[in-house]
Amino acid sequence: MKILPIVQLGDPVLRRRARQIAPRELREPVTQELIEAMRETMRDAPGVGLAAPQVGLSLQLAVIEDAPANLESLDPEERKAREREAVPFHVIVNPVLHVEDAGPAYFFEGCLSFTGFVASVPRARAVRVECLDERGESRVIRAHGWYARILQHEIDHLNGIVYVDRMETRTLMSSEAYGSAWGDRSTEQIRAALESVRRAE
Ligand code: ZN
Repeated sequence: MKILPIVQLGDPVLRRRARQIAPRELREPVTQELIEAMRETMRDAPGVGLAAPQVGLSLQLAVIEDAPANLESLDPEERKAREREAVPFHVIVNPVLHVEDAGPAYFFEGCLSFTGFVASVPRARAVRVECLDERGESRVIRAHGWYARILQHEIDHLNGIVYVDRMETRTLMSSEAYGSAWGDRSTEQIRAALESVRRAE
């Protein structure tokens, strides 16, 4: 299976609003092959989502999967705090996102198009997404917790937005530092230590 190169921050394709895909175009073999290649590229990276602009194509298409194996290594408390549950592989096309619970929830996230870094990003806790699936059928997705975060991250990509636009800038750090220095600390503790939490003025 073909693994596609993932573009990095600085490539203008990541800053463009991607164009919509017609249901007819979606059913064409070239699009179905793209979806398969994106699935394999996401699994190879590995990641829990991949948007078409990340492989250089300005299309309103993203693949998402949070496999059960991803959850095995997580501390049960951390998993509960993140409201992280397995999400089967699926495709979203031309998505429209509606916030159902604005939260925000603060957790660290990274991006395959900005490798080597993570930051705390406030995100809505629950969202509703209206989109097409890979067969061009209308779908409504209701998601909360980590899945809602993944959807927000990927749909941002389709609108030319990257997490660095939404992050708490003082929390940006290398993945290495996050893993070695902060691995056993909660997001709240890290935010407080880095003085990202806004103090009373
Ligand atoms: Zn990303």
